[in-house]
Amino acid sequence: MKYELVVGLEVHCQLNTNSKAFCGCSTRFGNPANTNVCPVCLALPGALPVLNRRVVEDAVKLGLATGCSIAPSSILARKNYFYPDLPKGYQISQFEEPICTEGMLRIDVGEGYRDIRLIRIHIEEDAGKSIHDIGDDTYIDVNRCGVPLLEIVSYPDIRTSREASAYLQKMRQIVKYLGISDGNMEEGSLRCDANVSVRLFGAEEYGTRTEIKNMNSFKNVEKAIDYEMQRHIDIIDGGGTIVQETRLWDADKGETRSMRGKEFAHDYRYFPDPDLVPLLVDQEMLERIRLELPEFPEDRERRFVSEYGIPPYDAGVLTVEREIADYFERTLKVCGDAKAASNWVMGEVMRTLKEKYLDIMEFAISPERLGGLIGLIGKGAISNTIAKQVFELMQTGEASAEEIVDREGLAQVSDTGAIERTVDEILEANPKQLADYREGKTKLFGFFVGQCMARMKGKANPQVVNDVLKSRLDG
Ligand code: ZN
Ligand code: MN
Repeated sequence: MKYELVVGLEVHCQLNTNSKAFCGCSTRFGNPANTNVCPVCLALPGALPVLNRRVVEDAVKLGLATGCSIAPSSILARKNYFYPDLPKGYQISQFEEPICTEGMLRIDVGEGYRDIRLIRIHIEEDAGKSIHDIGDDTYIDVNRCGVPLLEIVSYPDIRTSREASAYLQKMRQIVKYLGISDGNMEEGSLRCDANVSVRLFGAEEYGTRTEIKNMNSFKNVEKAIDYEMQRHIDIIDGGGTIVQETRLWDADKGETRSMRGKEFAHDYRYFPDPDLVPLLVDQEMLERIRLELPEFPEDRERRFVSEYGIPPYDAGVLTVEREIADYFERTLKVCGDAKAASNWVMGEVMRTLKEKYLDIMEFAISPERLGGLIGLIGKGAISNTIAKQVFELMQTGEASAEEIVDREGLAQVSDTGAIERTVDEILEANPKQLADYREGKTKLFGFFVGQCMARMKGKANPQVVNDVLKSRLDG
């Protein structure tokens, strides 16, 4: 391959505030069309915007989390353009003096770390929505007008499509850890545009770039970038030149197509919004927010290994989501066995969430109850096999493991007398297998264990069954 891919990403992250960026309207998704609206978010004459404090705090949080400099003073500007879903005729955004600059996001694509530099993070408001899929008409819903966004712009430091999706996943993880966004790509809480170009390996200068929009999943980001890269290479190798333009990714056709010519900053006639004063972030606010920052995934991952002694692989899986990591730690607090807690959370819990399309927050078994279940195994009160049955029964959320074990009579039998009687019954009932075993077919040992366990409905202590069987067969 003689060409190198060069990608910069622009990510729009929708903040999960209750009210909009500059008015008190609800941000609730799914309300009837054009009901979350007021004179301010429609910019009716005389209405004045007031910046939502939460939006500033969220921007500072993300800025600190990505190592940005936070500007003590920044400017809110009007970005002027005409579009049906923007009845105001302008979007409040930041241009010359954004709130966060020069940060960094560390990504890992399995070949060591790479640091992708950030140019800036700025505050802006969202536009409304055009709805094209009702009959032949187009409808406008302005509920989303004024919903707060952070726009995060990277340097063109990304070199493969996998790095692009790793970058996005990392960004999603961080905004979720910070609790400032749900990070849902399919629902548009995280939207990504990619600036794509190619150049000969070793070249200093960048090639002409195109901007791709409308990639609404990690997989589509990779596919769209790969497609666009190949398109550039084909054009250049065919002696053509790349046209700088905005292109739309069509996921069904698996191709990008021209949407409009590239617009430049001067097309937008940016100017400071005369209705809004400069945005000030003082040292006190900065320090307060710094103290509120959660423990970040990498730190938490390292701590899980050093503090709890679980394998690095487990620590990595458990810390991908903050809520899963919390769940694990609360489980561990109750049961005291880190590896067992890790196995249950990574195994049964995550499998169940996946099967039932659940979020950990919706999961009916509380971490305290899971800890109780694991504790019962540790004490020898139930076997692992029975524990899995109990786990299934716990998913109604009504009872603790202990209550279910009592109610269903599932407690493990370790009473040697009862197990000896069962072993004798099984040996008596299977004379043929017993004779075979004695003639050297020692593999039948497992058969006898299975028979005993089945007869005792899985409740016998397997270790005692093994010991008794051994002494009867070999003793
Ligand atoms: Zn409003
Ligand atoms: Mn933007």
